[in-house]
Amino acid sequence: MQRVCILGSTGSIGVSTLDVIARHPDRYRVFALTAHTQIEKLAEQCQRFLPEVAVVGTVEAANGLRQLLVERGLASIQIEFGPQALCDVASAPGCDSVMAAIVGAAGLPASLAAAQAGKKVLLANKEALVMSGSLFMNAIKSTGAALLPIDSEHNAIFQCLPAHFDGDRKKHGVRKILLTASGGPFLHRDVQTLCVVTPEEAVAHPNWVMGRKISIDSATMMNKGLEVIEAHWLFSVPADDIDVVIHPQSVIHSMVSYNDGSVLAQLGNPDMRTPIAYGLAYPERIDSGVEPLDLVKVGKLNFEAPDFHRFPCLRLAYQALRAEGSAPTILNASNEIAVQAFLDRRISFDRIAQVIEQCLEKMPSTPVTDLESILAADAHARQIALSLIQ
Ligand code: NAD
Ligand code: MG
Repeated sequence: MQRVCILGSTGSIGVSTLDVIARHPDRYRVFALTAHTQIEKLAEQCQRFLPEVAVVGTVEAANGLRQLLVERGLASIQIEFGPQALCDVASAPGCDSVMAAIVGAAGLPASLAAAQAGKKVLLANKEALVMSGSLFMNAIKSTGAALLPIDSEHNAIFQCLPAHFDGDRKKHGVRKILLTASGGPFLHRDVQTLCVVTPEEAVAHPNWVMGRKISIDSATMMNKGLEVIEAHWLFSVPADDIDVVIHPQSVIHSMVSYNDGSVLAQLGNPDMRTPIAYGLAYPERIDSGVEPLDLVKVGKLNFEAPDFHRFPCLRLAYQALRAEGSAPTILNASNEIAVQAFLDRRISFDRIAQVIEQCLEKMPSTPVTDLESILAADAHARQIALSLIQ
């Protein structure tokens, strides 16, 4: 019986994780569920999955949740709140696996705590790895924790790499990583009109149903940029050997190109339950509830090169990865601020990339060695981004 802690259980990945877990009560038990503010949804999840602990963002949310749980006869569930409580459940002796599915930098401390505690880490929270790359990977190595990428592209690459790939690309004949990208809702829209798109248009992803932040990141292609950085850390591949390939159908989730000319791909319907089930059951395979892929129905698979003029965020992400140090943290923090400002209708869509670029210019990259220096760079970049927006 695997005891699972789900960080961000009320989000899109959290809900899909619970859907897979519910199909296998003989294999998985929920140890902890966490949510930021959605206490009604969390109370329903508690009723269904009976975790030992539930964590929320604030004392007010904790009081609200307590009342909801008492009404449901679930007073025995322990309720905690705040960032430290997230780290505590992610590293608790009572849990074996941690699904890291909090969105954004807020997920970093708890994702890192899970790695440092040697848990099996199912990593959806790509922002954590973008910010803390070497620190996070060192924690995984030193504790011997298992790291299973949940982001569909990285899960695909993981599946296409040789078993026990140790980062030695020469030995394994790995030439390149080919990250596929749908191109999002604005792949073919007139570039001149990107200044007037609305948040509703930008969150409407053609293939995937996801949280609002990652949906905007997909429209700017910052999501793919963050994924390039994520791939760099997960698979020890330099920026020059990670290519982005636009593939509008989102059927091939990514590929590995080998020295002998072979290209291995992982295909499937665009449904996050596939990588989640893979991560939960690894190295076994279990039913995920995802429909089998009907290739005849799909008919065509198309590919094109990414347009860095249309998607400046992708260019900025490569730039930040090459700059190393705090640059990816600055990129991520300014992106989070700019995306929120766009969702709040305070800036236009095309301003997102400009804010990030100006932030990277104003804040030169410095070496980051520990969580404190990463969080300091994150906070500083947020201030600069906010002042640029005001
Ligand atoms: P979401 O917005 O749907 O859910 C986010 C979850 O995080 C919620 O449970 C929310 O309560 C929690 N949360 C938000 N802010 C918090 C805070 N400050 N403190 C504590 N908890 C907080 O997001 P999502 O789409 O499920 O994405 C989650 C992560 O997975 C992101 O890092 C995203 O990039 C990654 N991811 C998502 C998908 C997808 O299909 N949705 C695919 C690949 C990777
Ligand atoms: Mg992805």
